Amino acid sequence: MPAWLMHLLLLGSLCSRVFGAPLHSTHSTSDEETETDPELAAGYFEGDLEVEFGRNGLPKETQRWPNGSVPYKIDEAFDAAQAAHIELAMKLIELSSCIRFVRADEPQKNYVFVTTREKGCTSLVGYGPGRRLLQLTPHQPDKGCLRLGVLQHELLHTLGFHHQHNSPDRDDYVRIEEENIVAGHENAFRKRDDMLLDNYDQPYDYGSILHYGPFAFSKNGEPTIVALEPDKASLMGQRLRLSDTDINRLNTMYKCPNQQ
Ligand SMILES: [Zn+2]
Repeated sequence: MPAWLMHLLLLGSLCSRVFGAPLHSTHSTSDEETETDPELAAGYFEGDLEVEFGRNGLPKETQRWPNGSVPYKIDEAFDAAQAAHIELAMKLIELSSCIRFVRADEPQKNYVFVTTREKGCTSLVGYGPGRRLLQLTPHQPDKGCLRLGVLQHELLHTLGFHHQHNSPDRDDYVRIEEENIVAGHENAFRKRDDMLLDNYDQPYDYGSILHYGPFAFSKNGEPTIVALEPDKASLMGQRLRLSDTDINRLNTMYKCPNQQ
């Protein structure tokens, strides 16, 4: 396929997201190492979710994929088009960093297993020994969990990043409206300890692909996250592309030689 056609197809895919329903990402469970993005699971959002960024990267080297190389296997439950779309999201991250996703050989013990789940999208955060699960509802490409922006959001969790709005300094930038949060999802909005996360010298970013949208896990249609800088409110929850700070954090965490 000629390069111009590839770019055109990619642009078309991205644009479908621009005009699609706003994304909203969501919560983490009590498991410190898991991030769940229940945009679909919660039942309050038909389309998708969003993300944010800030102080959200795991600081320990042992929680990063060695040499920025991420072996993976994709469950055969996904069809060829779905698997290709998941790999396209991986390629987009590779284009902005030194991260490399490589198909895991049979003897490989430590790898990401991209598999299916009934509702929502979720990923373990960071590297660890054994099989690390990234679970996606098997929507068609560009729908739900298989939107390129949502896939990149989940892959950033896999690489070691938490949500932006969980950063220790988030109260300087957003207000959490506790009374509007669906019962049981409060943990998705809690601040994380400064010791557990590193901002990699990047500012809080309303436009991070790891920031939730303003209505994530809303039980009543009212906002759960309010931007203290109103002109930045529309950035929250974007699921189009990695933001500049997303890219900078990723490159810094993995010590990429040619940082942006
Ligand atoms: Zn997430």
